[in-house]
Amino acid sequence: MSGVRTNWAGNIAYSTGDVRVPASLEELQEVVAGATRVRAAGSGHSFNDLVDTDGTLVSTRGLPREVEVDAEAREAVVGAGMTYAEVGPLLHAQGWALPNTGSLPHISVGGATATGTHGSGVGNGCLATSVSGVELVMADGEVLRLRAGDDDLRGAALALGSLGVVSRVWLRLEPTYDVAQDVLLDVPTSVVAEDGVALMSSAHSISLFTTFGTPGRLDSVWRKARVDRPATGTWGGRVATVPVHPIPRLPADAATPQLGVPGPWHERLPHFRADHVPSVGDELQSEMFVALEDLSRAWPAVEAVAPRLAGALQVMEVRTIAADDLWLSPFRDRASVAFHVTWVSDLDVVRPALAALEAALAPFDPRPHWAKVSSGPDRERFVEASPGVRDFRALADRLDPDRCFVNPFVERLGVR
Ligand SMILES: Cc1cc2nc3c(=O)[nH]c(=O)nc-3n(C[C@H](O)[C@H](O)[C@H](O)COP(=O)(O)OP(=O)(O)OC[C@H]3O[C@@H](n4cnc5c(N)ncnc54)[C@H](O)[C@@H]3O)c2cc1C
Repeated sequence: MSGVRTNWAGNIAYSTGDVRVPASLEELQEVVAGATRVRAAGSGHSFNDLVDTDGTLVSTRGLPREVEVDAEAREAVVGAGMTYAEVGPLLHAQGWALPNTGSLPHISVGGATATGTHGSGVGNGCLATSVSGVELVMADGEVLRLRAGDDDLRGAALALGSLGVVSRVWLRLEPTYDVAQDVLLDVPTSVVAEDGVALMSSAHSISLFTTFGTPGRLDSVWRKARVDRPATGTWGGRVATVPVHPIPRLPADAATPQLGVPGPWHERLPHFRADHVPSVGDELQSEMFVALEDLSRAWPAVEAVAPRLAGALQVMEVRTIAADDLWLSPFRDRASVAFHVTWVSDLDVVRPALAALEAALAPFDPRPHWAKVSSGPDRERFVEASPGVRDFRALADRLDPDRCFVNPFVERLGVR
C-alpha cells in the first residue's frame, strides 16, 4: 500500500502522501494517536472517495494475519486487513465456514464489512451481518472492543471507517459445507418479472447476468447450491456444459469452478478465483438496492432503459440480500434486490447511462451501495431519511468527538 496512490480501479487518486502500514496493534495505536485526521484503507476496492483523506491513510494490510477459532462460541477473530481469500481456507481447514462471500475474494474483511458488501441469496445478509465483534483503535490510540449484545455494534459493524480503525473482527461461523455451482443460459427475462422472487430463491445464492445482448433472454443465471440443498428448476433455460465468465465474451479462467462439481464454500461462493490476480480494474461499478417485493415492477423498468446503457455497460448483475438491523446498512429492515452494473472505466461515457438507470429505479426508493459510484440524489435521500443514520451519528459523536475519522465523503453526505 505504501507507494500506492490510487484505489484499485485507478479512478480515485488519494489526497495524501502520508500512507502508513503498521505491522502490529501497538504500531497502529501509535500511528492513530499521533495523527489528526485518519482513514483506514483495506484493499482499496471502493470506487468513490470513501477511503480518501488529506490526513493519514492507514493501510490495514500489514496488520497480523491471524485467524483464531473459538469452536465453542462458533466464532473466529480475524485480522481486519486479511482478505476473504486468506481467511476462507484457514476456516475451512478447521471445519468452519461463513454463510456467504462477495463476488471477489481479494477484498479485506475490514473494508467489506465496513461498506455493506454482500453476495447473493434471499436468506443471506450482507457480510457485516456475520460480525459478532470489532476491535477498534480510537482517535487517542486506545482500543475499544464491542461485542455481540452491545447495541453499539449495530453501528460499528458497518461504519464506513468513521468510528476508528478496526484492527480485528469477530465473525460468526457455521460448520463447513460444500457448494456446487452451475450456470443456466438463455433464461427468458419474462421469468424475472413474473416469478423473480421464486427464481432468486431457487438456490443458496443466485446471480442473474445480462449484457442485454439477446432481447428477452438473460445471458446467464449463476446458481451456488449447498450440496445438502440442491438448486431447483431450469426456468426455461439450459444448463451450461462448459464454464463461462459473467461477461460472455471473456474466457472463463478467472471464474470459480462450475458444471455442478462440488467443492469448499470459499472456492465456489465468490464468482472469481482467489488464485487469479485481478488486473488493475478497467471498470467502474454502481449498485442500487430496492425492496425485493418490487422486483416484478423494477425489472421491467430496468429492461426498458437498457438501450440507453449500451456502450457504457459491460454487464449487469441482479442479486438479493436479506434484511438486517445495522444502522448504516442499505438493507436495514428491507429484504433487497440489487442492480449492480460493471461499467466501462470512462466516467464521461458512464454518466448519462448511470443517470438513465437511476431514473428508471427512482420510483422504487433505491438505496445505493456505499462503495460504488452514484450520480443522483439517492445517497443523500437515504442518509436524510434513515433513522439508523441518526443513531450512527450519535454513536460517532460519542466515540470520535474530535472528528478524527471524518473525511469529505462522510461529511458531504451528513453521515458525520
Ligand atoms: C472487482 C470488484 C468486485 C466487487 N464485488 C463486490 C460484491 O460482490 N459485492 C459488494 O457488495 N461489493 C463488491 N465490491 C465493492 C467492494 O466490496 C467494496 O469496495 C469494499 O469496501 C472493498 O473492501 P476494501 O478492503 O477494498 O475496502 P476499501 O476500499 O479499502 O475501504 C472501504 C471503506 O472501508 C473502510 N475500511 C477499510 N478497512 C477498514 C478497517 N480496518 N477499519 C475501519 N474502516 C475500514 C475505509 O475507510 C473505507 O471507508 C467489489 C469491488 C470490486 C473492485
